[in-house]
This record gives sequence, C-alpha cells and structure tokens, in this order.
Amino acid sequence: MQNVLRIITIFPNLFDSFSTIGVVGKAIQSNKVTFSVEDLRNFGIGKHMSVDDTQYGGGPGMVMRPEPFYDSVESLKNIHNEKPYIILTSPKGNTLDSKKIKQLSKKNCIYILCGRYEGVDQRVQELIVDEEISIGNYILSGGEIPAMVIADSIIRKIPNVLGSSESTLNETFSENIFGKNKEPVYTKPRTFKHLSVPKVLLEGNHKKIEEWRKKMRK
Ligand code: SAH
Repeated sequence: MQNVLRIITIFPNLFDSFSTIGVVGKAIQSNKVTFSVEDLRNFGIGKHMSVDDTQYGGGPGMVMRPEPFYDSVESLKNIHNEKPYIILTSPKGNTLDSKKIKQLSKKNCIYILCGRYEGVDQRVQELIVDEEISIGNYILSGGEIPAMVIADSIIRKIPNVLGSSESTLNETFSENIFGKNKEPVYTKPRTFKHLSVPKVLLEGNHKKIEEWRKKMRK
C-alpha cells in the first residue's frame, strides 16, 4: 500500500513537532507514510503573495481565495503523479469518528487543505474537494489542528505503525470493545495516596485478569 498524506497550509511550521515526535514521527521516519507540508503562500497572488481577500457581499473577516489552493493541488498532483482524495477542514463537514477514520485510512493518497480566517471560497469546495471534514461542533481559528487530528488518527491505522504494545486491538472504539469503555490501566506505584492498584492485577493469574478487564469495560 502506498500511503501519502500532504497538508496544504499557510502555517507549515506548526507541523514541525507533530511530524517528528512519537508514533507519527516514527511512522514518517521509517517511511510507512510519505508526509509533506506545503506552504500555500508559495501559490499566493501578486507581489505580496496574498492568499485571502475581503468578502463579496460585505461582512467581517477575510476569505481565502480559490487560486492558491487550486494551483497548489494541481502542482502537487503533477509533481508526484498522484490522484489524491482531497479533504477540506471545515466545521460544517462530516464529523470525524472511528468509522470515518477507518474509511479514510483505506485511501492511498490524501491531501488536507487548512482553512483560516472566515473560511475558504466556496469554489475550492466545488472544484477540487472530495469531502469536508469537521473534528467537532465548535469553531477553531484554523484547519491545522483538525488536519493534525485527521493525520494522526489515519497514520495510527497503517499496518505496523503501532508496536504490539501500542496495538489498536483493545483500545477504546476498537472492534473488540466498541461501544464500551476501555478498562482502567495502572502502573507503579502499587499505592498512591490512599488508592491501591486492584489486587487481581498483581496476582499474575491471566485468566482472572482477562475476566476483570472484560467486567470493567462498561
Ligand atoms: N466562519 C466559519 C469558520 C471559519 S474558522 C464558520 O462560521 O463556519 C477557520 C477555518 O478553521 C475553517 O475554514 C476550517 O478550515 C478550520 N476549522 C475551524 N473549526 C473547525 C472544525 N471544527 N473542524 C474542522 N475545521 C475547522
């Protein structure tokens, strides 16, 4: 499987730590996913490389112009010879949940467009976007954090990205325990303040431990 994820944003350096740390960083370093962040400003208009302008019909705030998004997507498609599935981050899009993540993780190549200001000119959506995705019913100031949420949740799904210790099999929302909560987890010390680790976890009886875990997934 070819896994390609490209982000288009006016703030590429927001992704610097995201793409180098933890599970996501490791997946990128070990080439399990091709990840790139493109600076929309490179496709800005005029001497100031402008990417936004005032709203037709009046109204507060700036709107992102269609040409930079259109041109950056065309350029990336041509350079890399890709047929991407194009996501626009948008509070009115389809809400991201574990079912949506599973669907998206089956795509070979995804571009994520990050909006800012009052949003993105409607023609971007009509001309190049396959799906608008929201990460929840609230407004953020830009699409970069939503893009990280989408990217992180998809990258975790790529085979062999998670080590066995981080396996997705028994995590919240996984098939094994869907609709239930994951059981509580404990580490050292055995007693903290007045709270002790449940005895069954310390006794090494794996059958009993499994029964306890099942019981605790409510
Ligand atoms: N004025 C718009 C909000 C713009 S917020 C409205 O009322 O709907 C600026 C950008 O942040 C959006 O274009 C989008 O890319 C991103 N964004 C904000 N909230 C988001 C959310 N909940 N999910 C996904 N993207 C979001």
